[in-house]
Amino acid sequence: MARGKARQKVKKVPQRTCVGCRQVRPKKELVRIVRTPEGLVEVDPTGKRSGRGAYICPDPRCLELALKGKRLDAALEAAVPEEVVDGLMRQISSCAGAEPPA
Ligand SMILES: [Zn+2]
Repeated sequence: MARGKARQKVKKVPQRTCVGCRQVRPKKELVRIVRTPEGLVEVDPTGKRSGRGAYICPDPRCLELALKGKRLDAALEAAVPEEVVDGLMRQISSCAGAEPPA
């Protein structure tokens, strides 16, 4: 479980859990994936679309974890189509390139 994590003084930043590595991070550092009311699964770069959302670090390893364990499907309560996974991978790769390692 999430034991042993140092308690930080957190500003009022919404926190979300990555479906891959299960780390809790500020929402804006994560990529949102949404299942729209129409049942489509899409990447949501704005984070504002309505629907059921799942969050993932901009890290291909997290995406892999999320896909392997069907965690993304479970989080969205929907099967994630391959083309969405593809788009997600591209999105995440470009994010990962822009983000310095923590
Ligand atoms: Zn992660």
